[in-house]
Amino acid sequence: MTGTCVRALSTVDYQDDWIVDSGCGHHLTGNESKFSSLRTFSGNEAIITANDTVHAVENEGVVSLSSDKGPLTLRSVYHVPDMKKKLFSVTYAVDAGYHVLFGPTEVKFLRNASAVKADVAHVGKMVRDLFVLSTSSYVDRMRVNDSVAIWNERLRHVGMDKLKVMAVKSLVKGLPKLSSFGDGHVCAGCQYGKAHRLPFDKLLIRCKAPLECIYGDLTGPTVTASLGGSRYMLVLIDDYTKYTWVYFMKEKSEAF
Ligand SMILES: [Zn+2]
Repeated sequence: MTGTCVRALSTVDYQDDWIVDSGCGHHLTGNESKFSSLRTFSGNEAIITANDTVHAVENEGVVSLSSDKGPLTLRSVYHVPDMKKKLFSVTYAVDAGYHVLFGPTEVKFLRNASAVKADVAHVGKMVRDLFVLSTSSYVDRMRVNDSVAIWNERLRHVGMDKLKVMAVKSLVKGLPKLSSFGDGHVCAGCQYGKAHRLPFDKLLIRCKAPLECIYGDLTGPTVTASLGGSRYMLVLIDDYTKYTWVYFMKEKSEAF
């Protein structure tokens, strides 16, 4: 492969233009007529597109192109009959020794690049056939919103004392050195989570003999049945003696 792919485009011509794609490991096209040589593909690879459909690779070959900078030969191009677009693999270009420079209006393929003068803002790494921006880079970019309140929410409403320990001892990757833990911030989610019911009022009326009053409660169906196959439980409590009966039932109708 040689050359530079730079053209001023107003629309994409899917017949002739190749879409430069850093997410594919091979050049791809569905158009058999574009190949200068073609042979049956011997592997069993398939292409999975963004909507999760799988397309078989049928052939593999060479596509010869010409760009503004000269001839461009693509080798090991996959012929995938179902593909409507032609994809130009960044991975393949990098493997062939090129540096690929994406800019706001163009993408350049650089040969013999030794140094590009620029301030490096972010660096993604190649993992197998994909270029990946790591998760920690993502966290770094989110730091404009660093506050104790936001990190309390991000960490599933962890207690402030624990959050402080995490920050001070750097226990969590990506967690910044937070400060101002005692600024009086009250998180509504934490408050609801810690809230509990008040105890019941004392009962004023009490029974004076056994079996005068019996309370019953039927629970179920439980997610998991008992060994005997019961999924309901009926509890009867005698108010005077507090004697308790428990019945396990397979069907709710057994209560009657
Ligand atoms: Zn909270």
